[in-house]
Amino acid sequence: MSELEKIAEEIRACTLCGLAKGRTQAVPGDGNPNAAIMFVGEGPGFHEDKQGLPFVGASGHYLEELLGKIGLQREDVFITNVVRCRPPQNRDPLRPELEACADYLDRQIAVIRPRLIATLGRFSMARWFPNEKITAIHGKPKYQDGRIYYPLFHPAAVLRNPTLRPVMEEDFQRMKQLIDDFDKYMEEAKDSPPPDEPPPPPPPQQLSLF
Ligand code: SF4
Repeated sequence: MSELEKIAEEIRACTLCGLAKGRTQAVPGDGNPNAAIMFVGEGPGFHEDKQGLPFVGASGHYLEELLGKIGLQREDVFITNVVRCRPPQNRDPLRPELEACADYLDRQIAVIRPRLIATLGRFSMARWFPNEKITAIHGKPKYQDGRIYYPLFHPAAVLRNPTLRPVMEEDFQRMKQLIDDFDKYMEEAKDSPPPDEPPPPPPPQQLSLF
């Protein structure tokens, strides 16, 4: 059994917080164990709780559509949440629940070692961008721990407010460019340690794409 599957088994059996009582099943996360991009959402909803998979409802379909626009499929990325059991009536996760579930995410990140972590919604954003507002920082990368943290609107929020669609698509295009630039930088840096500073900005003709 792989380390990732071992973590998933622990999550499926977990009773560390009160959300365990109301779940049909826990949702450990799903996707490519070697993914360059990891998406971290909020928590399972109705469909996710039934199927044991993240982002399988309308938000998931939209996420797949957005990935398709940058030449990726769901299988290319890893998708998970900050809590792995559905909060009752889809309420916000509570601080003790977020804290109880945090170690699983740290362990998944340590195994997958994504080059970019994209946060979907305010609870995953708060983990790496405390006290920030998504309207102010969406699409703005932070370089830390040798990887990129990248805040995005939650797909459900965009579905509720279609005027955000072009903004979301632009943020996805930028995300792809960031990964490409990061890989290029690392290739050139070769044996140097991963950067804590942003790689050099792309040349102007690439910036004009946005
Ligand atoms: S939400 Fe996380 S910590 Fe709470 S029971 Fe589920 S897996 Fe365990």
